[in-house]
Amino acid sequence: MSDTGTALHTLQSVFGYENFRAHQRDIVDTVIAGGDALVLMPTGGGKSLCYQVPALVRPGCALVVSPLIALMQDQVDSLRQLGVRASFLNSTLPQDEVVAVERALLSGELDLLYIAPERLIQDRTQSLLERAELALFAIDEAHCVSQWGHDFRADYLQLSLLHERFPNVPRIALTATADARTRAEIVQRLDLGEARQFIAGFDRPNICYRIALKQSPRQQLLRFLREEHPGDAGIVYCLSRNKVDETAAWLVQQGFNALPYHAGLDARLRATHQSRFLREDGLIMVATIAFGMGIDKPDVRFVAHLDMPKTIEAYYQETGRAGRDGQPADAWMVYGLQDVMKLRQMMEGSEGSEEHKRAEQQRLNAMLGLCEITSCRRQALLHYFGDNLPGPCGNCDTCLNPVNTWDGTEAAQKALSAAYRTGQRFGVSHLIDVLRGSESERIVQLGHRELPTFGVGKDLDGNQWRSVFRQLVARGYLSVDMAYGALRLQEKCRPLLRGEERLDLRRDLPQKTAQRHTKGP
Ligand code: ADP
Ligand code: ZN
Repeated sequence: MSDTGTALHTLQSVFGYENFRAHQRDIVDTVIAGGDALVLMPTGGGKSLCYQVPALVRPGCALVVSPLIALMQDQVDSLRQLGVRASFLNSTLPQDEVVAVERALLSGELDLLYIAPERLIQDRTQSLLERAELALFAIDEAHCVSQWGHDFRADYLQLSLLHERFPNVPRIALTATADARTRAEIVQRLDLGEARQFIAGFDRPNICYRIALKQSPRQQLLRFLREEHPGDAGIVYCLSRNKVDETAAWLVQQGFNALPYHAGLDARLRATHQSRFLREDGLIMVATIAFGMGIDKPDVRFVAHLDMPKTIEAYYQETGRAGRDGQPADAWMVYGLQDVMKLRQMMEGSEGSEEHKRAEQQRLNAMLGLCEITSCRRQALLHYFGDNLPGPCGNCDTCLNPVNTWDGTEAAQKALSAAYRTGQRFGVSHLIDVLRGSESERIVQLGHRELPTFGVGKDLDGNQWRSVFRQLVARGYLSVDMAYGALRLQEKCRPLLRGEERLDLRRDLPQKTAQRHTKGP
């Protein structure tokens, strides 16, 4: 039988599955043939079979490196139930059992051996492996090599030694964290430059992505809940504990069955709320990001964000809690520039190196880019993870209601020049006064009436100018000074100011139309 045939036969006879999922087959073939692979798939995507099947097809024992020692026993138990000869080695195992496992490995009685990274890099283990027949190395949770504060990083970094010591044993690294930066770091640290990369399965087609500008957030949320999700279970995410408490109380006032959840609540209360959310129908959980890890409730019909998450990964994970049952679900969010400024401020104040802060800013900017985008959101989201969607999805707000754009080149030039001519020391309101030719005392005092940009922007009203400035900030043409709100020009402005670049801006709904259905606060 060919390797592929053997693989499929193994999948069916051992694991009881009819067929490989998309990409699983290619990955399995690659590893069986002795090649290295880097696999990026979201949780639940089916990563385990990507190394379990080759482990059975290739001669020798597969070593599975995983930091999650609490799960090893379970993983091994379920493999044994399928008749697979699996064991594990970690610090919880008594010495006599360690010896038994080592003996089984050496005498070729094992198909899979799960091992903690700190154990694997010990000299004792390394010399053991020299004497064993090895089918492959699987490095699970490979993002642990990345510098973003992972506990197991030191041990994971040592895993590059595997390749030096065992150059002929194929390696497969797996992770659900797939942004380009982490991916590059995994490749570099684990010396996987030659590995084939497989990125797949990030799409959640039943989730409809919708992101709107924050105007009157509570009213926007209320309308969304009343008109589209009466009686549905869902999660409303807020940034702060205070806001969680207030929002939950307010929703209850509005007649919804809502509960708060955040790390500031008493542990017992938290547990009660969580189990009520899982058991009862139609409950709304208002929560900080503390809520969600390991929550597997299939019929969450919506995830609403009243504040923008810090990264696209976070957004993807949080929205991913909707619609696990495959039925239509909404990922709904409102965002505003205030959110961005608040997040930037938090990052500035956080500990960590300058490099780390810069990277965080970039991630935040990518998130903001997803909000501001005028094309298909799903395509942009998947593209961020390196997973490609050939055409627009038809199930996101920008697909369903194509965004109205306008040529904002000239307006942007005026706005940027207003900031520049006033010495980059003023905030949005003052710049709008300059552009609209306001004769206010302050303008006169500062001599801003004399500027060439004074009054050149009367064709747009205050809200339209606000929208221009917001988009310029969001797209990185302007930065906002934290302390005073002053707008500063960024390097990116040059081609725009020189007339070498055009800029399409999103036409934001005029305030009145957007709030048509609301009754006021
Ligand atoms: P991950 O490790 O990526 O989070 P798992 O390997 O735990 O995902 O797989 C998630 C679920 O999908 C498991 O229940 C697994 O049995 C199932 N699964 C994976 N591959 C297949 C397949 N080819 N056919 C059917 N079910 C599969
Ligand atoms: Zn779309």
